[in-house]
Amino acid sequence: MRTILLGPPGAGKGTQAETIVREFNIPHISTGDMFRYNLKQGTELGVKAKEYMNKGLLVPDELVVAMVEDRLKNEDCANGFLLDGFPRTVIQAEALDVVLSKIGVHLNKVVNIEVNPELLVKRAVGRRICKECGATFHVDFNPSSKGSECEKCSGSLYQRDDDTEETVSKRIQVYTSETQPLIDYYDKKGILAVVDGDQPINIVSETIIKVLKED
Ligand code: ADP
Ligand code: AMP
Repeated sequence: MRTILLGPPGAGKGTQAETIVREFNIPHISTGDMFRYNLKQGTELGVKAKEYMNKGLLVPDELVVAMVEDRLKNEDCANGFLLDGFPRTVIQAEALDVVLSKIGVHLNKVVNIEVNPELLVKRAVGRRICKECGATFHVDFNPSSKGSECEKCSGSLYQRDDDTEETVSKRIQVYTSETQPLIDYYDKKGILAVVDGDQPINIVSETIIKVLKED
């Protein structure tokens, strides 16, 4: 299974990815997570990316594409992958097409998670992530049963630096102008599926898995 989760910040891509990658036994490739990992490790790429991330802007295409191309060549992608947060521009989508044709594979489906815009800021601002295992929670909509600790591994939960109301609003604007055109891009290729992301987490998961199995 080679798939992409599309959707605005806070749509639920990371949350859904946790379930989908388990179901299909494929790696979860989140470019946001890769940048955050690089930042934590203090790499040059991480330091460069931070400048953009904290302003709610996109990291330049050439940096993202090189990082993803490298990742897709990894052996664990041989039977598929789930891309989350990439591509985010038409240039990135075109570059991905080139990379995939070089490897000799194609995308099975692109799932667009649609969410009522009013919910997005609330979802992102209330998001909490486990420092240890990366699991995602929400203070109101999906709280950890262990409060400020992760219910899966007891790691402490943190709030992303870019999950402030101001930065999230900027990220949604950037999504609308830069990423939304990809809905059309993949629809024209005949591989787009649209899922109602306003539903509870488990219902959205069931719907996405069903859609992916239709392939
Ligand atoms: P994205 O990766 O698209 O930015 P996340 O998966 O991190 O979004 O989800 C954003 C926040 O919304 C998280 O705190 C998550 O727990 C919560 N969330 C995700 N899906 C739902 C849903 N269907 N209903 C309610 N809250 C959700
Ligand atoms: P995310 O974790 O997907 O919400 O991404 C967090 C931030 O990382 C974004 O706001 C961007 O600054 C950066 N980022 C992640 N993926 C990409 C991408 N494909 N292209 C450009 N910037 C990205």
